[in-house]
Amino acid sequence: MKAAILHPGQTPFLQIEEAPRPEPQPGQVLLRVLACGVCRTDLHIAEAELPPLREQLIPGHQIVGEVAGGATAELPLGSRVGVSWIGGTDGDCWYCQHSMENLCDHPTFTGYTVNGGYAEYALAQADFVFPLPEGLDNVHIAPLLCAGIIGFRSLRVAAVVPGERVGLFGFGSSASLAIKVLQSWKCDVYVSTRGESHRQMATALGATWVGKEDEVPPVQLDRAVTFAPSGKVVLHALSSLRKGGVVAINAIHLDQMPAFDYDKLLWGERQIRSVANMTRQDARDFLAIAHQLKIHPQVVTFSLDNANKALLAVKEETERGSSVIVP
Ligand SMILES: [Zn+2]
Ligand SMILES: [Zn+2]
Repeated sequence: MKAAILHPGQTPFLQIEEAPRPEPQPGQVLLRVLACGVCRTDLHIAEAELPPLREQLIPGHQIVGEVAGGATAELPLGSRVGVSWIGGTDGDCWYCQHSMENLCDHPTFTGYTVNGGYAEYALAQADFVFPLPEGLDNVHIAPLLCAGIIGFRSLRVAAVVPGERVGLFGFGSSASLAIKVLQSWKCDVYVSTRGESHRQMATALGATWVGKEDEVPPVQLDRAVTFAPSGKVVLHALSSLRKGGVVAINAIHLDQMPAFDYDKLLWGERQIRSVANMTRQDARDFLAIAHQLKIHPQVVTFSLDNANKALLAVKEETERGSSVIVP
């Protein structure tokens, strides 16, 4: 099969190569990849901001696939499913036993600890694939599978209450999906982001206010979610909060947290929380909401041969829409 393979330290990031088609083991399904979304985490992996764990890796953790092997009664041949970042857990650590499988001590991460979906075929754990709602084609579902689900989890971690004022700091794929959920909750959404194309997208999607990355929203926010991998942005969000407000950091990697003034920024029971991974329940809940709200992401498609270009589009924030690879 054809695959885009990351050899850590090489340039460009990905080599388009022939690789053996994987064989499903018990408990796994083989998927023919129909589309695979490109996430900022893929870029962190390619740039070794997340430490390399394998000699070579097929990245990609927003996989829309068709069951092509290892079929079961629940997952018959040809059925369409999604795979996300959380590709498996041990099921018996303290976190798994306390409904926090996102924090599992021995997790499998798709396209990081195991091969992912920048390929014609991919393996997945049968109990970590999600049935997909009808009504959206493959390329438009792909960005829902991590950008959408973890963006949604971020709103949960920030404890957003309907009707609140919510700030989104950074406006890529994840934020452009979260805004739809917030609007359905009648929240006012304030967007602060770099990149003219992202500001235009936020305006087009109906944000109450849109500003540059160093502009402060005109009101105090109840909640904020930061999407940029920058500690400075977290402090910017924190400085925009009312007392008792929460900043949720939707980023698996931050450059660094600058020192900050506790008395001025955190005092008053403001909170900073990270958002780590996702649970299967987050996935099921978000996919149901996305279906109900008819969320239809803007996408830009790339062939597998152009997988490097798809990664660069995420890095440079040039596209108004989520990058999706179609093998
Ligand atoms: Zn992701
Ligand atoms: Zn566990």
